[in-house]
Amino acid sequence: MHFVQAKSLLTRENGMNVYRGCVHGCVYCDSRSRCYQFTHLFEDIEVKENAPELLERILRSKRKKIMIGTGSMCDPYQPCEMELRIVRRCLELIGRYEFGAAVLTKSDRVLRDLDLLAEINRKAKAVVQMSLTIADEELSRKLEPNVCTSRRRYETLKEFQKAGIPTVVWMTPILPFLTDTEENLETILGWCIDAGVKGIICWNLGMTLREGDRYEQMTWF
Ligand code: SF4
Repeated sequence: MHFVQAKSLLTRENGMNVYRGCVHGCVYCDSRSRCYQFTHLFEDIEVKENAPELLERILRSKRKKIMIGTGSMCDPYQPCEMELRIVRRCLELIGRYEFGAAVLTKSDRVLRDLDLLAEINRKAKAVVQMSLTIADEELSRKLEPNVCTSRRRYETLKEFQKAGIPTVVWMTPILPFLTDTEENLETILGWCIDAGVKGIICWNLGMTLREGDRYEQMTWF
């Protein structure tokens, strides 16, 4: 992990990644592809330590309320977040300035911020998005070795359901010969129904297999 002072934070679509890189180790991860031009090891997470200051400046200057997204490129709930609390500080600001938030993660660490997400949802709108990919626990631990399994994510979604916070599932990628079975898809869809998710995204079902993703990830086996 290394720290930087970022010059900017939000993308044109109002997304932010306070961490660049990820240690969750998914074998199919597209974010580590060379086309994204990481200048450091993907697992050597770059921490934008001034992200809350940058975000506050942005929120103060916005005339219209918007949804701030996080997690489209790198998972915001890295293990280091539990100590650094940068995502949490950003959510506190989003709540204070009454903006909306959409969080995408594979980690049940997001439960730590349920109180803030509930507050944001009361004042504006919060959406929690989780990827559900592999119903089989053993396979899940092999293919996504450093993050909780899909079953645990389903249980996490149910916690947000109880708190009245809308959730969305990313059912992607579907891995040929591994997770493209009827049994896997039916189990995940059953979890989605049971957790009352508001939407299922199957955009870009497969893997990109771009240069730099699959080959290096195979070292996790
Ligand atoms: S959670 Fe998995 S797919 Fe997402 S950025 Fe991390 S390693 Fe890549």
